[in-house]
Amino acid sequence: MSEPLMTTYKRLPVTFARGEGVWLWDDAGTRYLDALAGIAVCGLGHAHPAVRDALCEQAGLLVHTSNIYRIAEQERLGALLTDLAGMDRVFFGNSGAEANEAAIKLARLYAHQRGVEHPAILVMENSFHGRTLATLTATGNRRVQAGFEPLVQGFVRVPYNDIGAVETAAANRKNIVAILVEPIQGEGGINIPGDDYLPALRRICDREGWLLILDEIQTGIGRTGRWFAFQHTEIVPDVMTLAKALGNGVPIGACVARGAAAEVFGPGTHGSTFGGNPLACRAARAVLETIAAQGLVEHAATQGAALRDAFRASLARVPGVVAVRGRGLMLGIELDRPCAELVMSALSAGLLINVTAERVIRLLPPLIIEPDQATHLVEVLSTLIRRFLTAP
Ligand SMILES: *Cc1c(COP(=O)(O)O)cnc(C)c1O
Repeated sequence: MSEPLMTTYKRLPVTFARGEGVWLWDDAGTRYLDALAGIAVCGLGHAHPAVRDALCEQAGLLVHTSNIYRIAEQERLGALLTDLAGMDRVFFGNSGAEANEAAIKLARLYAHQRGVEHPAILVMENSFHGRTLATLTATGNRRVQAGFEPLVQGFVRVPYNDIGAVETAAANRKNIVAILVEPIQGEGGINIPGDDYLPALRRICDREGWLLILDEIQTGIGRTGRWFAFQHTEIVPDVMTLAKALGNGVPIGACVARGAAAEVFGPGTHGSTFGGNPLACRAARAVLETIAAQGLVEHAATQGAALRDAFRASLARVPGVVAVRGRGLMLGIELDRPCAELVMSALSAGLLINVTAERVIRLLPPLIIEPDQATHLVEVLSTLIRRFLTAP
């Protein structure tokens, strides 16, 4: 039999048939606790009634018109998002990579409008920004780039969480116009920078006239216990990109901007056929309204802290556990050795997790996770980790 799908993914041997809340059931009826939420996408869990009702209602009204016309649901969602972020304007696309492409184009146009001919964007080692040509170039992972050369020009890379390196780049490179950075690196291994990192980047951007672009595609929409991770600090970025959890699984991405950055694009400078269509925007509005109405940002903060503390307690003094770190419900358990095989043993134990950066178990459970489900997660996963680390 010929295989119809390109082999872009190394898929696990399971097919899910339905979901409810934090649970998924496969086509044989086996139940799994989903501690990954489609990689930080399903913040409200699976088959949430508010999202279902919004989708059904909107599907019966209007799915798509065009950005040639005004779109009421896009304007409503834009107002909600800019309010939550304390920012000014939004461009909607359909994915994270597209949101970052918009931000990169915005930074270049901003530079050209100010007479910078060959603008460069400062990006970080171990970052992840997407799989399009510009975003894979911005990504700090050779495996994402290899084979796709020639890469896009106009990026300068420095180590993450290293203000000295940013200062050196500022002194040596006169064409830098923006910094593109994740507030917490997700794919890179749940790397949490020092508390002064974002404020220091903000100060440098203000001093140099650069745009601070935060990729909140994984950290945004309540994940870290704030609506956006930058809200753990006093600073506000010039540009913020969102996607993943914004539509709870309905494809939508957003490039949010403030001040001068919000005025860069004019008619004809950027666009998208599907971006911000009524269906996706209605779903995203249901997501934001439900998170707000149910206090799920605060819930993520308290459940996340409890989960991190519970893992720290249950894995304390287990040789081979390097660190348990996280903010809100974005958690990483770093081991001293590659541990990709834990994904399969967890699957066999009815638990969905992920391993990133080879040695970091990544947990991104739905924001709605309840204490008893969190306890179950800690018990099952801690047992698997102990067994893995003591195996001969
Ligand atoms: C997932 C992710 C992206 C890419 O989003 P896509 O929707 O897959 O294009 C970009 N940046 C970060 C930080 C991400 O986690």
